Amino acid sequence: MKGVKEMVDFTENKKDLEKKFQVSRRGFLKTGAAAAAIGVFGAIKAPSKIAEAAVSSNYNYIPGNKGQWSKLRPEPNYGGASVKYVENNDQWLGTSKIVGTVKKTSEIDMGFSQAVRGLLGQKPKDGFLKAGRHPLATAFGLAVGRISDDSVVSGVPSQNKLPIPDPEQMSMHIKDLAYYLRADEVGIGKMPEFAYYSHQMDPSLMGIVARRGEKNIEIKEKPFNEKMPYVIVVAVEQHLETYLATNGYEGIAVSQSYRCYHATANIAIIMAKYIREMGYHARAHHFGNYGAVMTACIIAAGMGELTRTGDCAAHPRMGFRNKVAAITTDLPLVPDKPIDFGMLDFCKICNKCAENCPAGAITHDRDPVEHNGYLRWNSDFKKCTVFRTSQEDGFSCGRCIKVCPWSSKEDSWFHEAGVWIGSHGESSARFLKGIDDMFGYGTEIVEKYKWWLEWPDLYKIY
Ligand code: SF4
Ligand code: SF4
Repeated sequence: MKGVKEMVDFTENKKDLEKKFQVSRRGFLKTGAAAAAIGVFGAIKAPSKIAEAAVSSNYNYIPGNKGQWSKLRPEPNYGGASVKYVENNDQWLGTSKIVGTVKKTSEIDMGFSQAVRGLLGQKPKDGFLKAGRHPLATAFGLAVGRISDDSVVSGVPSQNKLPIPDPEQMSMHIKDLAYYLRADEVGIGKMPEFAYYSHQMDPSLMGIVARRGEKNIEIKEKPFNEKMPYVIVVAVEQHLETYLATNGYEGIAVSQSYRCYHATANIAIIMAKYIREMGYHARAHHFGNYGAVMTACIIAAGMGELTRTGDCAAHPRMGFRNKVAAITTDLPLVPDKPIDFGMLDFCKICNKCAENCPAGAITHDRDPVEHNGYLRWNSDFKKCTVFRTSQEDGFSCGRCIKVCPWSSKEDSWFHEAGVWIGSHGESSARFLKGIDDMFGYGTEIVEKYKWWLEWPDLYKIY
C-alpha cells in the first residue's frame, strides 16, 4: 500500500508531466508574436517551447504551423479541383466582376417574402402558407424556429476581452472549432459591406413559417445596421445518397435544405456565442435570421464562385450541394482569399441545370450580365420561387443541385479527376460535361438509397 509521501510524489510527478505538455495559454495567441520576435516564424518545429517563453497563463493550445489552413485540416479540401486565389477589392469579389455600385438589398425582396405577399400569384402564396405540407419539413421548421430569435443569434460581448496578438493562430482555432462542431467546410472572409441587408423582414421567415395556416401575414421591414470587418462561413453538405435517390423535387427536397439549415444554424450560434465570451462582437446569420446575403459572404470567404443559377455559389468540392450560415465579427482574424477554380468558364459551356430545371428558371445565355452593379447569370429567382412554393408533385426543389457536375456525386478518384479537368478552362469543361452526361451523373435515380416516405396527398395545395 502506498504511503502518504508516495501519493504526494505521484501527484507532483503528474503535475510535472502536465507542465511539460502544457503550452501557455493567454499565450497561445501570443505565440506568433513571440516567434516572430525571435526570428523563427515559418520554421516552428516546437511551438510549445516558444509559447512557454511568451506566456504566463494557460489555454493548453499548441499553435499550428504558419500557413496551415487549420490544425485538424492542414490543407483546405478542394476535392481535387485546381484552385487559384484571387482578390476581393473594388473591381472584383473573387471572380465576380463589379461593374458599378453594388447596393445593399432588403430581405423583404427575397423570393419567399414575395410569395407570402402575393406578388408572385395566389397559388405560390397559398402553397407557402399552407400548414403541414410535409411532416418532416414541419419538424425541421420547429427546430430551426427555436434558434432564430435575435436573442439567440446575437448578444453583448463579455467585458473580459481576451488579448489576441496572433490572429493567424486564432483563425486556425476558429476553423478547427467549426470542424469540431461538424461543419464540412469553413472559411473566413473580409466582410463586404454590400453583403449586409439594408432591412430585415418583420416577422422573420421562421416567424412566418411558425404562423403557417394563416391566410394572410403582413410583412414589414426593419432596418439592419451592423458593420463588422470579418465573416466566418460554415457549410454543411446536403445528404448525398438522398440526392442520388430523388429526382430533386420530391417531398424530401425541402428537408434536404432544412437539415443543413438546422445544422449550420447550430454551429453558427455556438461559434458566435463563444466569440462573444472572448469579449468580441459576433452575430450568427442563418436561415431563420439572416442579416446578410450569404452568396457574397461565401465568395469573400473563399468558399465558392457564382454559377449559372444566378446568385448560388458553388464550392470546388461540394458544388452547391450544401447550405451555409455565417458569423460576422470583429474578432482579430486573418481572412482567406476568394478562389477561382474555373466555375465561370465551366458554366459557360455546361447548361445542365438550365436543361433540367422544371421551372425554366435558369438562363441558357452564354455569359453573365449586369445585375445590381455586378456580373451574374440572368436566371430568374421568381420563376424558381413560384415552382418551389406551388408545385404539387413534392415540396420545394433542388434539382439544379442534384444535376450539377460539381455537386460531388461520390467520394472517388474518378470524381476528383473529373473536377481537376473541369477546372482548366472551357475545352476541359466541355470534356467533363460530356463524361458527366455519358455516365448519367446527376440525372440517375439510385433506388436503393430511397429511405424516406412520400406524402402525395399532403402536397396538394387546394
Ligand atoms: S431549385 Fe428547382 S426550380 Fe429552382 S432553379 Fe433549381 S431546378 Fe430550377
Ligand atoms: S449545372 Fe453546369 S451550368 Fe449549372 S451551375 Fe452546375 S456547372 Fe454551372
